[in-house]
Amino acid sequence: MAMDMDEDYGQDEGYGRGKGKKGKGGGAGGDDKRSGPARRKVCRFCADKNVAIDYKDPQTLKYFITDRGKVIPRRISGNCAKHQRKVSLAIKRARMIALMPFTVTGK
Ligand SMILES: [Zn+2]
Repeated sequence: MAMDMDEDYGQDEGYGRGKGKKGKGGGAGGDDKRSGPARRKVCRFCADKNVAIDYKDPQTLKYFITDRGKVIPRRISGNCAKHQRKVSLAIKRARMIALMPFTVTGK
């Protein structure tokens, strides 16, 4: 049996033309509000094995705190659970030896 693409179905199923739908879907649901830079979703410590999480290395750790000294949550930093835990632990240790701030207050 050959599949003939040209076959013409004479049945009346409202196929295609007919009632013109404007656009697709219409106004169902709201707009997704996803603006801003796309963050890399890959944990940078998983991606790069050479980067060590070290409490004696505030240069690396400072990427994971906010301006005010808070730890950036994983959903934003993109770290995996394992590394986020290590980062937060390292930050806490670094704070204890005054390499990192507990908080940053204005002026
Ligand atoms: Zn990771």
